[in-house]
Amino acid sequence: MGLDTLEYYPNGLATSLPMDIQIKLLHTLPGLERAEIIRPGYAIEYDYADPVQLKPSLEAKLVANLYLAGQINGTSGYEEAAAQGLIAGINASLQLREMNPHSWREEAYIGVLVDDLVTKGTREPYRMFTSRAEYRLILREDNADLRLRERGRAVGLVNDQDYMTFLNKKASIQMNAERLKGKIIYPNPSTNDRLKAMGGAPIKNPISLAELLRRPEISFQDLIVFDEVCAATESEVAEQIEIQIKYEGYIQRQEEEISRFVKVESVKLPPDIDYKSIHGLTKEVREKLAEIQPISLGQATRISGITPAAISILMVYLKRLGQI
Ligand SMILES: Cc1cc2nc3c(=O)[nH]c(=O)nc-3n(C[C@H](O)[C@H](O)[C@H](O)COP(=O)(O)OP(=O)(O)OC[C@H]3O[C@@H](n4cnc5c(N)ncnc54)[C@H](O)[C@@H]3O)c2cc1C
Repeated sequence: MGLDTLEYYPNGLATSLPMDIQIKLLHTLPGLERAEIIRPGYAIEYDYADPVQLKPSLEAKLVANLYLAGQINGTSGYEEAAAQGLIAGINASLQLREMNPHSWREEAYIGVLVDDLVTKGTREPYRMFTSRAEYRLILREDNADLRLRERGRAVGLVNDQDYMTFLNKKASIQMNAERLKGKIIYPNPSTNDRLKAMGGAPIKNPISLAELLRRPEISFQDLIVFDEVCAATESEVAEQIEIQIKYEGYIQRQEEEISRFVKVESVKLPPDIDYKSIHGLTKEVREKLAEIQPISLGQATRISGITPAAISILMVYLKRLGQI
C-alpha cells in the first residue's frame, strides 16, 4: 500500500491458483468481499539439489571442493542466496587454509539457514523467517557486529580500521556500563524531583544508575541529569547499554540455554561411523544418520525422525569410543 495508490499487496496470500479461484478465495476474507485483483499471484518453478547432500560448510559430500550456495539449495530470496554465497566462500577459503569451518546456529540467522538446509532439507522454497531461530533474543539486528565482527576478523574479512572501530565501541560499552553500575544516586528532594519530572517514581534507598535504567520508564537519555558523561556517549553505545541492562535477566537466561546447546554441539560424531553396526538403532534412524552424516550430536538431534532414545544410544556408543 502507498500514499498515491489504492493497491494493496496481500502478503501471506501466496498462490498460483487459476485467476477465477484467486478471486473467489480473496472474497472469502472478511472486509475483502468486493476487492478487485489488479494483478494475480503467479508461481515460478525451479529445480534444486537436495541440500542434505551438503556438509554444514556447504561443500558437496560427494564432490570434494564443490560448494553450492543460493536457490540451487532449495531456498528463495535475495538475502538467502547472498548469505549462503558468503558462507560458501568463507568455508572454501578456510579449506584452502586448512582451517575448520564453524557452525553458527546460535550466533547468526545465516547459521540457522545453513543448518536447517543441510540437516532437514526442504520441500518448499525455504525462506529465512526469524521464527526459525531458537535464540532470537540474542540474534538481534542491533548487536550484529558484537556477535559476528570477531568471526569476520578471524577469516580475514574485517580490515584493521573497521576492527579498531569495533574494539573501541566494545570497550566503550563495557566501560560505560560499569560506570553506571558504580554511580549511586541518593534519595533526597533534588533527586526525587528530577525523577518526578521524567515520569518516574521516587527512590527510597540509594540505587545505582544501572538499577535506575532497569525501570521501564527510564531511558539512557534520562540519565544525563545524573551523569553528564551520558550526554557524550555515542548513540550506538547508549543503545547497547540500555538493551543489555534493561533485559539482562532474559539475555542471561538465553545465554545459559546457548551454553547448553554449544555443549551438545561440541560432541563431534566421527565422519566414518558405521551406523548399521550400532545396536539398538531402528532401520529408519540408521538410514537418516547415514544420509545426513551429522558432524555433531547436536546436529543429530535436529534431524527429523531422530528420537531421544536414538540420541541416548548414540551417546552410549560415543562414550565407548571415548568421544565423551
Ligand atoms: C519474478 C521473481 C520475483 C522475485 N522476487 C523476489 C523478491 O521480491 N524478494 C526476494 O528476496 N526474492 C525474490 N525472488 C527470488 C530471488 O530472485 C532468487 O531466489 C535469488 O535471486 C536466487 O539467487 P541465486 O544467486 O541463488 O540464483 P540466480 O540469481 O538464479 O543466479 C544463478 C546464475 O547462474 C547463471 N547460470 C545458470 N546456469 C549457468 C551455467 N551453466 N553457467 C554459467 N552460469 C549459469 C544464471 O544465468 C544466473 O545468473 C524473485 C524471483 C523471481 C523469479
